[in-house]
Amino acid sequence: MIRTGVVGVGHLGSVHARILATLEESQLVGVYDIISERAQAVARQWNVQAFPSLEALLEAVEAVSVVTPTETHYPVARRVLEAGRHLFLEKPMTQHLEEARALVDLARRQGVRFQVGHVERFNPAVLAVRDWVHNPRFIESHRLTLFPGRGTDVDVVLDLMIHDLDLVLYFVGPQEIEFLDAVGVPVLTHKVDIANARLRFKNGCTVNLTASRVYSSHMRKFRIFQRDTYISLDTRKKDVEVYILRDGTVLPYFPEVDRSQEPLALELRAFLQAIQHRQDPPVTGEDGLRALELAHRILDTIHENLKRYEV
Ligand code: NAD
Repeated sequence: MIRTGVVGVGHLGSVHARILATLEESQLVGVYDIISERAQAVARQWNVQAFPSLEALLEAVEAVSVVTPTETHYPVARRVLEAGRHLFLEKPMTQHLEEARALVDLARRQGVRFQVGHVERFNPAVLAVRDWVHNPRFIESHRLTLFPGRGTDVDVVLDLMIHDLDLVLYFVGPQEIEFLDAVGVPVLTHKVDIANARLRFKNGCTVNLTASRVYSSHMRKFRIFQRDTYISLDTRKKDVEVYILRDGTVLPYFPEVDRSQEPLALELRAFLQAIQHRQDPPVTGEDGLRALELAHRILDTIHENLKRYEV
């Protein structure tokens, strides 16, 4: 069992605490939050300690989940790594690229495991089609939500689109991007609330992504088109459809989707197993950095376009 702790036990951090208190690979030792009543409430629930400081928690654990607001990821994560503790860091890994690069370097130098919380990799719908995806030619993704109130400290590209950017990079593999255009506008906040990006990789694969937090419901669709095959994922409903052209006929396939497992539990278990086996976790700091680099290229283009058409 690995002695674990959670830093930041708000909306998502309290779920991390519940999972780390119940996974067999983990012994949840305690939690820390700048709002001490919050830490105490979660600690009481799982019969663990509410630590008075980050340093006190780091003294007592081997691995930490950092689930604080994005703008605090860098200072908190740096202290975790400097203390030589294994780090699970929620997405987006940091707000700024230099911060993300510094964390990747520090984790390598410290020889600790560093996983970034791109939880869609563990979505049962994604797991069900992983082996069906070969050389995608076109990918279309829509991630639209009701205005959440939370997560609006960053642009929608860093909050929502980054999930799909990580999936795109995962499915397309190591390819350079030869074309990128993006547009987006603030609607309900001063940050970009709706964004659309079009990318073309060097192998010709084209990707069209839309992310919005100004929508009347929720949609998380990810569609992959490749030679003779169409794969449609709904990562919210965890539904998958695959259509394959065989002998002139399009045949539907419904790959088995294992909905019995919670994606966040699979994700945290993978982190703990990477520590136990001294292996790289399935979503490394470098993976998080690649998604963040692409997100920033998209954001820079959006801001250039906003400036150009300012009225
Ligand atoms: P939240 O505001 O509900 O919770 C954040 C908590 O961190 C609060 O309790 C706050 O008091 C605490 N906190 C703030 N600064 C701190 C510090 N320096 N040290 C310790 N505690 C501190 O936010 P949330 O919605 O739970 O989001 C947290 C993070 O999780 C964000 O980075 C967000 O992007 C990410 N997130 C990821 C997903 C996903 O799908 N993977 C979903 C939601 C949120």
